[in-house]
Amino acid sequence: MIQYSIQPSSPHAHLFTVVMRIAAPDPEGQLLRLPAWLPGSYMVRDFAKNVVTLSASCGGAKVEVQRDDKSSWLCAPCDGELLVEYEVYAWDLSVRTAHLDSTHAFFNGTSVFLEAVGQGDVACGVTLEAPEGEAYNGWKVATSLSLAGAKLYGFGEYCADNYDDLIDHPVEMGDFSCATFEACDVPHDIVLTGRHNADMDRLCRDLKIICEHHINFFGLPAPVDRYVFMTMVVGEGYGGLEHKASTALLCSRKSLPVIGEDGVNDDYREFLGLCSHEYFHTWNVKRIKPAAFSPFDLASEQYTRLLWAFEGITSYYDDLSLVRCGLVRPESYLQLLAKTISRVQRSPGRFKQSVTDSSFDAWTKFYKQDENAPNAIVSYYTKGALIALCLDVFIRQHSGEKKSLDDLMRLLWQRYGLDEDGLAQGVPENGIEAAVEELLDVGQAKLARSFFNNALRSTNELDVESALAYLGVQLQLAPAKNQSDWGGYRAKHAKLAVAQSVLGIRSAAAQGFVKITHVYDGGAAQVAGLAAGDLVVAIDGLQTKAGQLEKMVAGYTVGAEVKLTAFRRDELMQFEATLQGAEANTAQLSWSGENTLRCQAWLQGEEA
Ligand code: ZN
Repeated sequence: MIQYSIQPSSPHAHLFTVVMRIAAPDPEGQLLRLPAWLPGSYMVRDFAKNVVTLSASCGGAKVEVQRDDKSSWLCAPCDGELLVEYEVYAWDLSVRTAHLDSTHAFFNGTSVFLEAVGQGDVACGVTLEAPEGEAYNGWKVATSLSLAGAKLYGFGEYCADNYDDLIDHPVEMGDFSCATFEACDVPHDIVLTGRHNADMDRLCRDLKIICEHHINFFGLPAPVDRYVFMTMVVGEGYGGLEHKASTALLCSRKSLPVIGEDGVNDDYREFLGLCSHEYFHTWNVKRIKPAAFSPFDLASEQYTRLLWAFEGITSYYDDLSLVRCGLVRPESYLQLLAKTISRVQRSPGRFKQSVTDSSFDAWTKFYKQDENAPNAIVSYYTKGALIALCLDVFIRQHSGEKKSLDDLMRLLWQRYGLDEDGLAQGVPENGIEAAVEELLDVGQAKLARSFFNNALRSTNELDVESALAYLGVQLQLAPAKNQSDWGGYRAKHAKLAVAQSVLGIRSAAAQGFVKITHVYDGGAAQVAGLAAGDLVVAIDGLQTKAGQLEKMVAGYTVGAEVKLTAFRRDELMQFEATLQGAEANTAQLSWSGENTLRCQAWLQGEEA
């Protein structure tokens, strides 16, 4: 047994104190290590950098400790229980690390729990301690860690099967709001930390619908016996990370429904989509997971080409499930789908990088995006979701409408999630493609191979238009009206926007002016020599305040030559640009009026 105790010992200094007791340390000297990354977020973050102090003792006598590498400490051999005490700095408000102040404490085990290397299979006990002081008397605990003496929501004793289990149950401490609902007889908590006015009953009602949908989608029983949605509510923020029996979420206050409000506005729809996404991961990636992650090696990067399936398919179902369970109308779903298509259309990088490469290089490219990202990379989330849509249609088409992507997910669940051997082995790199072939009519394997080669391993444009046509949806690409136009649902004969003049940039307001954040390959700005970071102050000698440039440019005819004045660092520079017409890269979706039965089958889905 390895015993940890953790206390937010100094909320004002953002420090946790952790005490770790190892009953049977390695006689050669115990190696201790913090992960370099955490599952679900594919970037090396070197959590050990936040360990501020560390000391070890045995039977009251000091044990020498040496650094072994950037993430490890080596304790001198000792006879008897090894006690390690350390402090961890926690001041990153994200779902991936740890955050502590006088309002709350949140941590992922990967940020705070050292692994006793070589003893990863040993069961762990965890004592969660409240901070000292009356100010913290109202604090409670939310976590999916198993209770081992603590009362539900209380401080005290918890446990985990082994180290991997220990680090897959984040913990929230604070005076949070909490409500519970049952989905298919399993208790689910929704926990909100931070200032909010949310209608907790409404959240319970809507999340219950989503959770029951997902459980029934994969088939009863649910893979968890308890689940926690732990949510940090802030003014502006968005994020989520999946865990085996919980999810850590970050959301904007405005995305939560208030009492008396009904209907699902765009912000709340985004929140529901996020919850749906993370909950779907309970199956797809937490249990059906790549063989490359079985087991996890958290010391350095682990490579897989399958993230298009784990993130892309999950991104496809997160929104599709909202319409299938009746929380949003079909037109509202088309609006979400249109946005995904527009996002892919605005990434010229899709012609340079395939989704399998994007997945493999997630560590250095997708997770480390810079100003050139739209030109150089493709998102395995957004293009992955469109591949899932095309694959769904492909399976329907080539199985005589008898099968769909839903069946693929259930087959993967049976094989790699439910089955104990499969769970241990994980999905091989060719496992998803092989499973698809099994679902198709005889003699379709060659077609499937060519579908996958094109969709996954090439940079050819995906034929989303034909896939949607099969489902009774008409896709038209039109120029965007402005930077924030992502397309949407369009009544059938509504007019499409005409191409206005653009510079081929993405921008943000800075110092009252327009700062270029991204320059698209081949666009007017790039041809003229403008670069990311440039602060545009005038066009043809007229001042361009933030929010005005786009309109001023649109006022010129396509092909017009203009003089742009911009600061690059502190140097004022002049550029001559020939304006181009906006590309038709914005998706407009409408009902074609054909294939309505297929459309219904698609939008309604069927339970397992
Ligand atoms: Zn995800």
